[in-house]
Amino acid sequence: MTKYIFVTGGVVSGLGKGIVAASLGKLLALRGLKVAAQKFDPYMNVDPGTMNPIQHGEVFVTDDGGETDLDLGHYERFTGHNLTKLSNLTSGKVFWTVLNKEREGKYLGQTVQIIPHVTNEIKSFISENAKLTGSDIMITEIGGTIGDIESQPFIEAIRQFSFEVGRENCLFIHVCLVPYISGSDEYKSKPVQHSVKELQSMGVRPDIIVTRSDGDCGEAIREKIACFCNVEKDCVISNTTVDCLYKAPMMLHENGLDAVACRKLKIRNKLDLKPLKALIKSIDSRKGEVTVAIVGKYVALHDSYLSVIEGLNHASYSNGVHVNLMWVDSEEITEENVKEKLKGADGILVPGGFGKRGIEGMITACKYARENAVPYFGICLGMQISVMEFARNVAGLKDATSGEFSETGTKVIDLMDDQIGKKKGGTMRLGGYPCKVEENTNLYRAYGEKLIRERHRHRYEFNNEYRDLLTSKGLVISGTSPDGHIVEAVEANNGTFFLGVQFHPEFTSRPEKTNPIFHEFVKYCKLNKKAHEGANRK
Ligand code: GLN
Repeated sequence: MTKYIFVTGGVVSGLGKGIVAASLGKLLALRGLKVAAQKFDPYMNVDPGTMNPIQHGEVFVTDDGGETDLDLGHYERFTGHNLTKLSNLTSGKVFWTVLNKEREGKYLGQTVQIIPHVTNEIKSFISENAKLTGSDIMITEIGGTIGDIESQPFIEAIRQFSFEVGRENCLFIHVCLVPYISGSDEYKSKPVQHSVKELQSMGVRPDIIVTRSDGDCGEAIREKIACFCNVEKDCVISNTTVDCLYKAPMMLHENGLDAVACRKLKIRNKLDLKPLKALIKSIDSRKGEVTVAIVGKYVALHDSYLSVIEGLNHASYSNGVHVNLMWVDSEEITEENVKEKLKGADGILVPGGFGKRGIEGMITACKYARENAVPYFGICLGMQISVMEFARNVAGLKDATSGEFSETGTKVIDLMDDQIGKKKGGTMRLGGYPCKVEENTNLYRAYGEKLIRERHRHRYEFNNEYRDLLTSKGLVISGTSPDGHIVEAVEANNGTFFLGVQFHPEFTSRPEKTNPIFHEFVKYCKLNKKAHEGANRK
């Protein structure tokens, strides 16, 4: 029998509800339970696939090809379990389904209403996901803040749901801001009280209140919240700021979160803290530092590259070295200033992206990396950049480009024949695909396996028309689809790590199990730094 945990947020957005949900997921997984998670987003977009990364951060891609909210990435990284398309539900998707059913006559002429039609759709989504995943625990995070008009159908749906499956099988956690007023040097509980009152007016009584503040708000405030909000004293849990995201599960455990959650849900499994301790040790025992330049066009908003940053963090733990990120706006890079712009970078990473803006600067950065043997890691667009750079500067195809950027020129990257003429939405390659790895390559050295599986999210591909020419000039094709047809990874034999991959390896990286390419890349950054330090000393 599945038990359900619902996490809501109060007072302000951006409180790290997702981290609380993912941390609890981790703590329950460490008690040997099978945990699944889902996120409900009250906005009207059908999925986050078409949303601007500057506004909404990265789109996290699941193995089955779902384009989901970036919080889902935290769940996967924290719990180590792969999620699915069903893990993300937006108001847009709910309304879309309901309206389609109405058009198909499925409601048999009834008046179609928020209650029960929209709420029923939400409820069936929760139970379907629980059934499909066969999980012991289903954690559902409701996006937005209590009081928003948009999230009301979701709150109503979870209220009804708790009655249907039995209140004792459900746990409501409300994460709220407890502001600190520096003038009077005190924490204030009133916003929490108001938020809980609002939640209760919708029929949901929280079992646990997680208070978010930088420091510890203190016993007196917790007692006050417990008393005014009708929860037991030990069910008010402090969620304070930690210096590293992955320390949040331990902090919340020490503050009692999983213990009270298990008491309420009558779970008696024992907790194994060893993996958490080992991870914290690897985080705290790093020595020295390397600098990685991230050359992209969304550098102003780091959330656009959240999983890439996390991949580098994981690689920093597994290599025992701090990784400094140097954000370089590709639009500002020119042939003249590239050396100056990338000064101090021990490795260069060009992440994924869409559209023409800033690509010339990325090509210049890639050329700089190849010619100066600075480790280069190109992800998706970054791989396509490395093919264009090689075609232009090594194979003499001066006008080499991608079909995405130009109608004319030599399109070394282009749509595949079977994609041409289709609508944009239908042509994206999404989700996990197998990739055959050539031995004696950077890619093989990273994975040590001949067949790997990584996730994709792109429309354009390496153009096979230029495959013979480019390989005859020295481009190494280190990964392909199992039938050899689609090029998935390219390398330049320049004596260091120079690898471009058509997939997004960042989506499978985990804090305890760094994605092999990220690990290998940072390893080479370390070697590169050491070699330079050695050269400078001589
Ligand atoms: N814009 C490129 C494509 O559609 C690359 C996409 C990406 O980097 N995710 O193929």
